[in-house]
Amino acid sequence: MGKQIKVALIGNPNTGKTSVFNALTGLNQKVGNYPGITVDKKEGICKLSRGVKAHILDLPGTYSLNASSIDENVVIELLLNQKDKDFPDVAVVVADVENLKRNLLLFTQIKDLKIPTILAVNMSDVMVRKGIALDIAELETQLNTKIALVSTRKGTGLRELKNLIEGYKTLPKKQCIDARSIDVDYFERLEKAFPNQEVYKLWLVVTQDVNFGKLARKELDVSKFQTKSISELKRLQQKEAIKRYQFINGVLKKSQVIDRSKAKDLRIKLDRILTHKVWGYVIFLAILMTIFQAIYDWASFPMDLIDTSFASLAEWVKNSFPNGGMLTELLAEGVVSGIGGVVIFIPQIAFLFMFISILEESGYMSRVVFLMDRIMRGFGISGKSVVPLISGTACAIPAVMATRNIENWKERLITILVVPFTTCAARLPVYLIIIALIIPEGTFLGFSYQALTLMSLYLIGFGMAIFSAYILDRVLKKERKSFFVVEMPNYKLPLLKNVLITVIEKTKTFVLEAGKIILAISIILWVMASFGPGEKFNNAESIITQNNIDIPKGELDDKIAAYRLEHSYIGIVGKTIEPVIRPLGYDWKIGIGLVASFAAREVFVGTLATIYSVGSASEGENIDTIKSKMANERYSDGRKVFTLASGISLLLFYAFAMQCMSTLAIVKRETKSWKWPMVQLVGMSIIAYIFALIAFQILN
Ligand code: GDP
Repeated sequence: MGKQIKVALIGNPNTGKTSVFNALTGLNQKVGNYPGITVDKKEGICKLSRGVKAHILDLPGTYSLNASSIDENVVIELLLNQKDKDFPDVAVVVADVENLKRNLLLFTQIKDLKIPTILAVNMSDVMVRKGIALDIAELETQLNTKIALVSTRKGTGLRELKNLIEGYKTLPKKQCIDARSIDVDYFERLEKAFPNQEVYKLWLVVTQDVNFGKLARKELDVSKFQTKSISELKRLQQKEAIKRYQFINGVLKKSQVIDRSKAKDLRIKLDRILTHKVWGYVIFLAILMTIFQAIYDWASFPMDLIDTSFASLAEWVKNSFPNGGMLTELLAEGVVSGIGGVVIFIPQIAFLFMFISILEESGYMSRVVFLMDRIMRGFGISGKSVVPLISGTACAIPAVMATRNIENWKERLITILVVPFTTCAARLPVYLIIIALIIPEGTFLGFSYQALTLMSLYLIGFGMAIFSAYILDRVLKKERKSFFVVEMPNYKLPLLKNVLITVIEKTKTFVLEAGKIILAISIILWVMASFGPGEKFNNAESIITQNNIDIPKGELDDKIAAYRLEHSYIGIVGKTIEPVIRPLGYDWKIGIGLVASFAAREVFVGTLATIYSVGSASEGENIDTIKSKMANERYSDGRKVFTLASGISLLLFYAFAMQCMSTLAIVKRETKSWKWPMVQLVGMSIIAYIFALIAFQILN
């Protein structure tokens, strides 16, 4: 490996930092995570000249070095720790040419840590239109740095930026402001106590502890210097910010001219409509509905294609490998369908993230967040939870992934925990068949009872999500509410490259991280359904054949499959849990369906089809067969199994239970621990059980 320059990419949110990262690294990036916390770590490699490479670390967006969230904390802890293996040789601070004043605050702080710092002024393409003129040479002198004027949209300035990175050793080290001037007395004491340390660094350690509670920082313990009260220290932080802004104002006065007449015209008009008290919501709703319609319409074709391709692949494997072998079965039914179960989610994930990324890139998302925040805040979640909650009606997996842009960890966690309550597409087949069985066909005020039931189930799911968010907000540990910064970036045409990279990145994460777990559980479930202990399972064929001599071959096969399933491990589990689910109105056959549908809810219907020996339920006519079988299914004493009571109980169970290993897998990936998915699994199952129990006991 040749020499690598370690570069840290730092900047305020929305300055185009991600775009610069993408422009420098292309697809040479990988996402990992910082040990112990849930913040993503994005790294990439950028080729400079003559075999020199830069290792680029894309740090989370931050407004200043006075952290208020875990994400921001990552930036500060890295910059304070020279021993960290990621400690940068050079920092590149990305600023937006339209918001230089605000963006430069962070720049001056990093520079004052005496880290070589380059300023990348991004979005230079808008300068003419917005009437902004910059004297770069003057700005470089004033800030004691080197500047690259970049437009990732036009692809300009990147060569210069790379050259500056390569020549980082020649960057001036001079600081922007003299930190001592914040409080001469206090800083002198700090300096005396740690003579070998940069005094501004010491000050940041102090403010870090004030803002963020005690952190274990071995080599620099400043706790003795908490001699000032917290409010006093906070006041000093404000004083620092004021001093920095004074400095920045002076710098910009000499180097920047803005012709105001050109700025802000379209933006104001658009904002007025898009954040309007009534129209804002109407427009948002319309956009959402369009998006979901599009996801359903566009994703259904590739999903069907994936479904049939994997089915034929499984078929092909079965036919072309040694007949009847266990390995063949495992390949065909365990592995191939397991992988199919992962791949099938890709279209929805890709489309959802394409839309989210477009909304974000265009600047519209900030308006939505601003609008919805008023409503959502009361429930302990933020405006940013709206998109995940609504995406949950398609599928919880992309929805959980979409919580990424909620910065506040507690709000994000609550959103992740409640998202699976919203009614996802996989519940639909289960709902439809049970509703058809137990709800009569009549109408009420022109709406059919069946449609009304279905709608109620959607509402119940959404209501439960909001209600649990409210409860969780009270129960979970208080986290300092990050004050809500409504950043309203300018409207822009989305950059195709950014959209593509987001889509690829999200899909890859899903397939590689959640996919492993989904595949593993699919195989386990397959093994449980395909093997059983003892004679009955092994001799299913001869037992059934003996007892049913004159029935046609197809029917016989169905009966054998049913008998086998009954005596497989999964069947045994289904029977074992019968006493537990009896009070809910279910028999062991439904029990098997419940266990099997943990792979994916829609499997419930197929499993019942097998157990009622009607063959595969995927073909249309079999749905009717299985319906009539279910309708006539009776206990040994002649009572019907599927009644209004047991049906409603089952609907409620499916509405609330965490019956989806894929969601568990993605929650594990997003929260980086098994704790939260387990909380979800147990909590939701209990809620589901209680509701189903009450419903059955009352109605029965
Ligand atoms: P981050 O939040 O700092 O990572 O910023 P992003 O890279 O996500 O960019 C924020 C917005 O700025 C997006 O809408 C981008 O399309 C847009 N953007 C990024 N670079 C440029 C640029 O050079 N010119 C213009 N006009 N827009 C840009």
